[in-house]
Amino acid sequence: MTHKANIVVIGTGGTIAGQGKAASNTSAYLCSVLGIDEILATIDPRSLAVDLRAEQLLQTGSENFGNEQLLAIGRRVAVLLAQDDVDGVVIAHGTDTIEETAYFLHLTLKSAKPVVVVGSMRPPSAMSSDAALNLYDAIAVAAHPASVGLGTLVVANDEIHTARDVTKGNSFKVEAFRSPYGPLGYVIEGRPRYYRHPCRAHTLATPWSAGTLASLPQVDIVQAYGALEAETVNALAARANGLIFAGTGNGNVPAHLIEPLRDAARRGVHVVRASRTGSGIVLHNGAQPDDLYDWLSVDDQVPSKARILLMLALTQSRDVQTLQAVFERY
Ligand code: GLU
Repeated sequence: MTHKANIVVIGTGGTIAGQGKAASNTSAYLCSVLGIDEILATIDPRSLAVDLRAEQLLQTGSENFGNEQLLAIGRRVAVLLAQDDVDGVVIAHGTDTIEETAYFLHLTLKSAKPVVVVGSMRPPSAMSSDAALNLYDAIAVAAHPASVGLGTLVVANDEIHTARDVTKGNSFKVEAFRSPYGPLGYVIEGRPRYYRHPCRAHTLATPWSAGTLASLPQVDIVQAYGALEAETVNALAARANGLIFAGTGNGNVPAHLIEPLRDAARRGVHVVRASRTGSGIVLHNGAQPDDLYDWLSVDDQVPSKARILLMLALTQSRDVQTLQAVFERY
């Protein structure tokens, strides 16, 4: 008899758990109303050779997720992955912040077992909803041996993305998820097809463990524009351990903000130069003399994920060079 993969599907809310009044409601609908059992009832997993178990962990839109929710999801998934009778985990999640949760899990789970975070852009009640197929595909990916050791994956719109790279790049289209170097592969009729692997360190090769993290330090993001005032930057820097400065272009800093950000660094706030463009590299010591100012730079990471990475890095070190090395490694 073929071994059936034991997959746990965790519900957290989002559009994949949403419901509209009419099939034409692709954008106006109630989010996070269907339970995970109801969502699972919309697919027929018999062709996938899986045994499914469902759990409802949260029930809210992912725009409401703070660090507590990240830690709660991480802790629960860590417990499940440690069980011999669990081969993989799927997390049904709102799409808005799927990139943050997935990257957090990618960096903190101590297991090679597949973890797939999945959402949908249209609720199950809408015409041409992507909910059922995305969920079916996510289960197929989590159950497949080729997904072992790849870290956390995000499945949507027939594509498999690495959690490190994927971002939500559109507010309403089904084709909303992008990775700057492309997806890892496709999933078609219940079978993943991989064409490349993640090359940056993750899961077992990181020093962070979702199972033991008790809290995360305060890291904020501020997005640059010409009229951004020093008072705004100062207010954020006054409360944060780290500040991601999403500069224009390749991480440019307006002249009037250089001293406020240098002051913040002198007070021990870790200032990280990033870019608001959504992709590309911020070269260390490129547009600004980062080492001279004790600033960090993100390499190619987007501000939302740079925040996750810096929070984790700050749980272990406050040394500027060690922190910079983290941005080059993960
Ligand atoms: N804003 C909601 C969320 O992120 C719905 C978006 C979605 O799931 O597509 O949970």
